[in-house]
Amino acid sequence: MSPREACRLGTPRPYYSTSAQSNFDASILICSHLLAALRGRDPFRTVDHLAVMNAVKPELKFRSRERYDLALDTIVTNLPCDDRRTILRGKDSGQWLSAVPSTFNGTELSKQEFQDALLLRYAKSPGDLQSHCDGCGATFNVRHGLACKHGGLVISRHNEIRDELSDLASKAFSPSSVRDEPKIHLSRPVEKQTALAQPNPSVAKTQKEDCGDLLIRGLWSRGTDCIIDVRVTDTDAKSYRSKDPAKVLEAQEREKKKKYLQACLGQRRNFIPFVVSTDGLSAGKRKPC
Ligand SMILES: [Zn+2]
Repeated sequence: MSPREACRLGTPRPYYSTSAQSNFDASILICSHLLAALRGRDPFRTVDHLAVMNAVKPELKFRSRERYDLALDTIVTNLPCDDRRTILRGKDSGQWLSAVPSTFNGTELSKQEFQDALLLRYAKSPGDLQSHCDGCGATFNVRHGLACKHGGLVISRHNEIRDELSDLASKAFSPSSVRDEPKIHLSRPVEKQTALAQPNPSVAKTQKEDCGDLLIRGLWSRGTDCIIDVRVTDTDAKSYRSKDPAKVLEAQEREKKKKYLQACLGQRRNFIPFVVSTDGLSAGKRKPC
């Protein structure tokens, strides 16, 4: 059906007709030096043409973003608060949509994964979920699946992220540079005891150990170890619903640093808290600590 026929029949205008005017304006702007040269007003110079293009592109990008943000705000205004929060967060958690599917890099998604991810991105529930939770027998829905501590789902999502990081690190470095569950000694190293000395219970009590998720050798610089600890959080959980998701993740990142950073530095190791939300929002740029 041609656009003219579509107009006559009263069907909604397709995207190319609604965006034609803005695309035309952008084209006029970006080719302004070229047009002036064709009309004989200016001599054509490649340098000037490139300068005009470089100056205009950021402006066009800014205008497009403003237009799309306005359209999105109009659409989500009448939605329930929780749905609006999920959809607006999609601007920061949608990197997976622009990843090129590749079997080699492990970035391909199955049909079900893709459909589920899209539905969750727009605050919709997949239609074919099980009726009851395997772990606790309660009525199952997306919210329950993200929060239930009994069925192993919460630990599974943590382990999936950990395994993905481990896989990426072993490809980027070498498999022998990566190992699981490195020990973190939370207290000061105890004094050396001789074989004859009686074990001192108060000293033994100070020997507290915890585990990180991964240790990568040579991540920031050659010959150094870095411990990574993963945390995956549902930022729409009841206790976080009134807070900004980015702030929730930042607070958890600080909490992990407070707990493990000094202990890791004491072991001559760097530490990275890898804190993300269940929909892929990251706590921030990764820096060595
Ligand atoms: Zn359950």
